[in-house]
Amino acid sequence: MTFPLAEAAMELHAAHLMALNAAALIDRGERAVKELSMAKAYAVEIGARALDRAIQTHGAMGFTNELGLVHAWQDVRSVNVADGTNEVLRRTIVQRLLAGDTEL
Ligand SMILES: Cc1cc2nc3c(=O)[nH]c(=O)nc-3n(C[C@H](O)[C@H](O)[C@H](O)COP(=O)(O)OP(=O)(O)OC[C@H]3O[C@@H](n4cnc5c(N)ncnc54)[C@H](O)[C@@H]3O)c2cc1C
Repeated sequence: MTFPLAEAAMELHAAHLMALNAAALIDRGERAVKELSMAKAYAVEIGARALDRAIQTHGAMGFTNELGLVHAWQDVRSVNVADGTNEVLRRTIVQRLLAGDTEL
């Protein structure tokens, strides 16, 4: 694992921009189903990955209640299932793409 902080920052920044893009589309009156599905699935996955990197970076300390990283990882990871699992969100993205919504 190299540059875990930089990698997490890049991914979290991308997730933030995806969310802002979806919000802008909704502000314009679009349903943004594909973009919302992408933003939610990606944000949860990279949020969990950022915490996993933080646990790894701290070694054994990463598993202690003192840092609370494992608890935070569990919280974020559960959102992969809650409010639309990431598999179902991917299915929605594919459905939208095959329906002709290919704007990226
Ligand atoms: C923290 C948390 C909070 C929640 N809060 C709420 C709430 O407030 N209100 C509420 O109503 N529910 C809530 N839920 C329930 C949640 O919506 C369901 O757990 C979720 O929809 C998945 O349903 P399931 O558990 O029956 O799993 P299943 O539907 O059995 O799915 C199991 C696995 O199979 C995958 N899968 C299922 N169908 C397909 C498919 N067609 N293609 C590919 N993969 C598929 C799923 O993605 C999942 O990984 C919550 C869940 C969690 C973990």
